[in-house]
Amino acid sequence: MRVQFWGTRGSIAKPGSSTARYGGNTSCVELRSARGTLVIVDCGTGGHALGQELMSAGAESVRGHILISHTHWDHIQGIPFFAPLFASGNEWDIYGPNGLGQSLRDTLAGQMQYTYFPITLDQCGAKIRYHDLVEGAFDIDDIKVSTHYLNHPALTLGYRLEADGVTVVYCCDHEPHSRPLATRRGTLTGQDLRYAEFLHGADLLIHDAQYTAEEYPAKVGWGHSSIEYVVNIGQYAEVKRIALTHHDPIRDDHAIDRLVANVRARLRESGSSLDVFAAVERQVLEIIPTHTQGPARRAASFQAKISIEPAQSRVSHLRFSMHQSHL
Ligand SMILES: [Zn+2]
Ligand SMILES: [Zn+2]
Repeated sequence: MRVQFWGTRGSIAKPGSSTARYGGNTSCVELRSARGTLVIVDCGTGGHALGQELMSAGAESVRGHILISHTHWDHIQGIPFFAPLFASGNEWDIYGPNGLGQSLRDTLAGQMQYTYFPITLDQCGAKIRYHDLVEGAFDIDDIKVSTHYLNHPALTLGYRLEADGVTVVYCCDHEPHSRPLATRRGTLTGQDLRYAEFLHGADLLIHDAQYTAEEYPAKVGWGHSSIEYVVNIGQYAEVKRIALTHHDPIRDDHAIDRLVANVRARLRESGSSLDVFAAVERQVLEIIPTHTQGPARRAASFQAKISIEPAQSRVSHLRFSMHQSHL
């Protein structure tokens, strides 16, 4: 699976010389299976450059899927500027958590009301289908998708994507359910344990790491993780690589370098093979199966007590794969 980061900044776009290396655009990641299925996770301001790239690739039409983690601005602001949605002949499916009382489509249309933007969602030239999601599983062509509610002050989903024998998990934005876990190691129980199971064995975990453990006490309840928590839960969940992302807007490139260097030094000292790095805007990763890995497994296979239901809350054109047989 090919992964490319188009936006790695959290909360607000932060262009400028101090963020030039890791990038100033907000959350957006492109994933492509070997067969060519295109999935974009979140469409913050990084979605603008991705859209330009897709339009300039020369294809007659662009077919893709956008998974929205939640509808905070830094995860959707690129949608009105995502060119492939405006060209006729293109076909897109947009998925996101089923909000309280408002559909995903209505929420996205809200930021394109005339007061804020000159073109409405209905004027997009592409054929667009909207899918309100709950926790569960469904397939996008050859990519198996599982969803899991995150701990954030908005209805938010993490996404586990499995294809080509590898697993990539994207979790932005998320705060530990048990807040002491953000600042010190502790036994994972309850919701945190269930969360670790969702991450289990990922070849790549792309995770919100906005704060440090030192900064966290002033940010309790803001809905974000500390880097220390992400590394600890990644080790527990036997994740192979972690891309720290959703970089704090006040964190400059040198500060990110220092944080990553410290994490790597600690992992080396403890003899851990976990690879941790900070996601860089435009960075490309090819995720290939490791020798030790068996066939990709779904969240359901280790969530013995969790009922995996179809993730889409409304009837749609997609044929759902029912995975109760795994239970
Ligand atoms: Zn965010
Ligand atoms: Zn958020």
